Amino acid sequence: MARRRHVIVGGGTAAINAIATIREIDRGASEIVLVADERPYSRMVLPYFLGGKIGRQHVFTLTPRRLAELGVDAAQLGRRAVALDTAAQRLELDDGTRVAYDDLLVATGSRPSLPPIPGAEGPGVHPFWTLAHADALLGEIGPGRDVVLVGAGFIAFTILGALLRRGVRLAILEAEPRILPHVVDAGGAELVTEWLVRHGVTVRPGTRLTAIESAGGRRRLSLAGGETIAADVVILATGVRPNLEWLRGSGVEVARGILVDERLRSSAPNVHAAGDVAEAVDRVTGLRALFAIEPAAMEQGRVAGANLAGRETRYRGTLSMNVVDVQGLEIASFGAWDDPAAESSAVAREAPRGYRRLLFGGGGDRLTGAIVVGHSRDVWSTHDVGMLKGLVQTGTPLGAWKRVLLRNPWEIRRAFVAGGVVGRLLPETLLGAPSVSMDGLSATGGEPR
Ligand SMILES: Cc1cc2nc3c(=O)[nH]c(=O)nc-3n(C[C@H](O)[C@H](O)[C@H](O)COP(=O)(O)OP(=O)(O)OC[C@H]3O[C@@H](n4cnc5c(N)ncnc54)[C@H](O)[C@@H]3O)c2cc1C
Repeated sequence: MARRRHVIVGGGTAAINAIATIREIDRGASEIVLVADERPYSRMVLPYFLGGKIGRQHVFTLTPRRLAELGVDAAQLGRRAVALDTAAQRLELDDGTRVAYDDLLVATGSRPSLPPIPGAEGPGVHPFWTLAHADALLGEIGPGRDVVLVGAGFIAFTILGALLRRGVRLAILEAEPRILPHVVDAGGAELVTEWLVRHGVTVRPGTRLTAIESAGGRRRLSLAGGETIAADVVILATGVRPNLEWLRGSGVEVARGILVDERLRSSAPNVHAAGDVAEAVDRVTGLRALFAIEPAAMEQGRVAGANLAGRETRYRGTLSMNVVDVQGLEIASFGAWDDPAAESSAVAREAPRGYRRLLFGGGGDRLTGAIVVGHSRDVWSTHDVGMLKGLVQTGTPLGAWKRVLLRNPWEIRRAFVAGGVVGRLLPETLLGAPSVSMDGLSATGGEPR
């Protein structure tokens, strides 16, 4: 009997987790064909490469040897998928090759979304999303160079420290009235702004770029309102969108991303999706949402891989999560941190400097969202990030601890222990295979004193 053929499209986080999971389960019984237009690497480690903390060779994930060990047919590495015939169960590649599949995983990730302004693709202007972008940027930055980072969102903040490490003079522009508009609230943004200014960064919220021109080897940036500023290098960090165009006409149902069910199946038979391309359910709100975050790609890859290997596995939904460190300042938000209807309290602390907002949505006693900004050296702040994530992720009922936390958002540790959150997290390990609950770890109850 012919071996079942899984075709995996994309070579990023979701794809490699799917491949590893299939092999964990089937021990080589199936055929796996990998189609990816780049050699597999991790986008998330690119900031370390940009900042000189790791060498280029360390960004790659699946080496040719590892692919061979996993029994992956890598003959189509370097090829792009251009069309999908879901009736004939056949994938078409950019050189005309057709690859038949028994089932297929779409894990093609996302790409930068550039602002529709003149000069966005001109010389000295770089998006930042791929290894090729990092290589190109590295050729242009260095001590004393004027760099303008356009867009003060999550991705900009992942590379901000690396840019400063390279000795550039940095300015950051944001069209919205505050920086990090999709990561923290106004109180959090205020503290981050203060921190950046202290580290020599020029921060310009409420500033819209309208055009970029090249003049005398430099860039001239026109801003709404008529002002112009000069720079050597411009980095566009203005968002991403999923790579879906090649699925046009395939019958795979798409909204903002590929619509998937709880087993990460698309609307087309035997076609699954995982990672940045998949529109799954937000774990806290229960609504469909598109996330471009590593933990979602990792877990969805694992769940999709298990289902492809025949082990029925349910995806519990994505926990919205942003965690980034900028020059020693930890910035994190979880869940529905921007829910205007939630009961919430926000507290700014002077020494050590920090800011927190905790949110209880739906009138209940479960933490549904959290924002933390604080010094990484403040050890409790660092630990609290993990505990807050656990509280939001598990939806632990907090009873009287809710009142305590609303009064003092720094009281996380006691509420975490009293809620028995560790015990609740244990069965949440990947693929839903319950871990053995260890005595003493699954404590429950306990009222504040
Ligand atoms: C600089 C940077 C820092 C980041 N930092 C963080 C972080 O700190 N925390 C976090 O949660 N997330 C972070 N992310 C986001 C995270 O890397 C992504 O969410 C994750 O890589 C998504 O994984 P994926 O497998 O869905 O897609 P990807 O990793 O993007 O992989 C998709 C692959 O598919 C290939 N492909 C696309 N189209 C085709 C096609 N038609 N045919 C064949 N192959 C194709 C692509 O070339 C790519 O290799 C960061 C991203 C970047 C760029």
